[in-house]
Amino acid sequence: MFNANTITRFQQLETPFYYYHLDVLRRTLEACKAASSKYGFHVHYAMKANFNPKVLEMIKDYGFGADCVSGNEVKAAIDCGFGRENVVFAGVGKSDKEINLALDADIFCFNVESVQELLVIDELARAKNKIAKIAIRINPNVDANTHHFITTGLDENKFGVNIWQLQDVADTLRRCPNLEFLGIHFHIGSQITDLEVYRTLCTRINEMQDWFEGQGFPVKVLNTGGGLGINYYNPDNDISDFEGYFNVFKQFLNVKPGQEVHFELGRALVGHCASLISRVLYVKNGQKKNFLVLDAGMTELIRPMLYQAYHRIENISRKSELGVSGSKIDEQPTQDLLKYDVVGPICESTDCFQKDVELPESFRGDLIAIRTAGAYGEVMASSYNLRDRVGSVYSED
Ligand SMILES: *Cc1c(COP(=O)(O)O)cnc(C)c1O
Repeated sequence: MFNANTITRFQQLETPFYYYHLDVLRRTLEACKAASSKYGFHVHYAMKANFNPKVLEMIKDYGFGADCVSGNEVKAAIDCGFGRENVVFAGVGKSDKEINLALDADIFCFNVESVQELLVIDELARAKNKIAKIAIRINPNVDANTHHFITTGLDENKFGVNIWQLQDVADTLRRCPNLEFLGIHFHIGSQITDLEVYRTLCTRINEMQDWFEGQGFPVKVLNTGGGLGINYYNPDNDISDFEGYFNVFKQFLNVKPGQEVHFELGRALVGHCASLISRVLYVKNGQKKNFLVLDAGMTELIRPMLYQAYHRIENISRKSELGVSGSKIDEQPTQDLLKYDVVGPICESTDCFQKDVELPESFRGDLIAIRTAGAYGEVMASSYNLRDRVGSVYSED
């Protein structure tokens, strides 16, 4: 992934920064586009995963829609050039200001998460003399089989309307003249690698759409959400199984004539397209532990500290010295590997990327790549400790 030229380029740059492999992004988008258009499926990009301007621009150019979770995201999507008819807006706590912004923008659909929110959108739409198009986000109580910090579709989660509240939703819809019901929406979690989970979701969606039709509400849109996972352990094998994923829905979702099927993918589209590049500031050899202290920490990439997430960590300076850059680290001749706790500079004990990482002996100034950091990486950067804003560098500059 990092050839000698790239590493020479990195050596001249201030670290830390996110390095965007734009060719990886392009190949991923192409694969997703090909697999989804085979069945006429619509894909919205969940832009909270990464709203780096170049990344957004490229995704827009491939014709994806935008899935937004704040008023500012709605605005950024439209400013970037995503068509307003392709913008959807979810979120358990949309403020009046955000709802008004989205009403003014004439977006495609609000994914509504409670009865109270229905009433608020109806009232705000009426004040503007508009009809708001809405889908109901249903919490289907399906276990996504993923880390419990990133599961969203269980009864104990705050998201969506629970099944026992649906009668109230239907009764409310009948009383809200400024709402137009488009369909039903689901999003059961993130980093889902077991496709069986989606099969269970399909069963639940089929039941729910029959229920709404039985109540007299035709369902035009089935929005299945996102969550497709990626392989963090093998960063160079970088495209998700989009074929397999869409095929599950093709097989198990009961799609009626004229219905649209929508998806909201974030991680699977952008996860592989970036690495966080950092330098070793200090090597601390203790009695029990060796520490590599990097110039990047939880302020640049918080996933390991927030969700116990795994990212592959590579010393790319030592790789190039061995003359094996570009080949997979697994194929390197076994050399003397040492174990390090790879930590950041932030004043928090949790500021550790990973414990006991096996790396070649490492030295001050070595470049460290933290791989597969394109999703929920740069977007979660913070200025805690009054840190500088993390930079971004592109493969094609
Ligand atoms: C975050 C989010 C997504 C995307 O999730 P990924 O795991 O990144 O695919 C989709 N839909 C909604 C409503 C979300 O909040």
